[in-house]
Amino acid sequence: MQKTRKAVALISGGLDSMLAAKVVLDQGVHVEGINFYTGFCVEGHTHAIRKQDRAKPKRNNALWVAEQLGVPLHIIDVVEEYKDVVINPKHGYGSNLNPCLDCKGFMVHHAHRWMEENAYDFIITGEVLGQRPMSQRRDTLPLIARESGAGDRLLRPLCAKLLPPTLPEREGWVDREQLLAFNGRSRKPQMALAAHYDLTDYAQPAGGCCFLTDPNYTTKLADLWQSRGDKRYELDDIMLLKVGRHLRPRPHFKLIVGREEGENNFLEGYRRRYTHLRSLSHSGPLVLIDGETDNDDLHLAARLAARFCQGRSAAAVRMSITPRGGAPYEIEVPPLNSDDIPQEWYL
Ligand code: SF4
Repeated sequence: MQKTRKAVALISGGLDSMLAAKVVLDQGVHVEGINFYTGFCVEGHTHAIRKQDRAKPKRNNALWVAEQLGVPLHIIDVVEEYKDVVINPKHGYGSNLNPCLDCKGFMVHHAHRWMEENAYDFIITGEVLGQRPMSQRRDTLPLIARESGAGDRLLRPLCAKLLPPTLPEREGWVDREQLLAFNGRSRKPQMALAAHYDLTDYAQPAGGCCFLTDPNYTTKLADLWQSRGDKRYELDDIMLLKVGRHLRPRPHFKLIVGREEGENNFLEGYRRRYTHLRSLSHSGPLVLIDGETDNDDLHLAARLAARFCQGRSAAAVRMSITPRGGAPYEIEVPPLNSDDIPQEWYL
């Protein structure tokens, strides 16, 4: 009897990786999914906390995909190891701070390690030749296979027919003829294949896989690095970059202003670790201060924070200031006029 081969599929939660796993699964291969949590993932964060998004279903798309396919999913936290990918990408960044080529290599490398530890035979990804400018080019697909250590145990079922046969194809673990030849940026072939499999309701993330491709987000990340004088971050830093309005009135501190109820609730969870302000005389947001501040800075921060509360047109707003690790106190300040807030303060 022929041995059942085992493959580990990178599952992002999007359509491509879902289809790639499905194509191989349908050939009788035992498939399990693997998903890496980097901290920069788009889904399941701001989507879950913002009030305006409340009507949207809250689901982890990678788990949803695994459920649709009927395969187990291994979610692996790589937040610490992934820092080096973001901070020192050997192949540089894409149009924002997205180190896509290093990122793909990192993920395939970790999937390969998992494959070896668990005695699996090969790795599946949803990559499509020519779909992404950095990581899915004819010259970079082999680079990922080589640098990750996966070599020709890396199968890309959606474009395999356009690439040299890999070990699973040569050994007959999968039938190359039943693999695909998707090429380019069009999503139509994927949508047609999804329809063929009767797959609907799959995720269509507007912002790609992660926040590192989002210019608004990466402006704030670059600002964080600049203000600290080096490229480092903790998980809390990158979570907070996803939330609120960020203003930097001075190089050594910035304000994070909740934009709505869901964000204020989220920021509440951080208030003990940050100096924070809120209006006592008018309703308004919770405002965190990131950085070291003296009394002049706090006065400016209070005037700025007052600008974002209901008392923005009042002569004075009573604000509460709670220094990090200290007791709250009150001050009354005139809110800053919008003309007094230079555009460059907004990140
Ligand atoms: S978009 Fe983000 S998660 Fe996707 S390959 Fe690029 S860096 Fe990695």
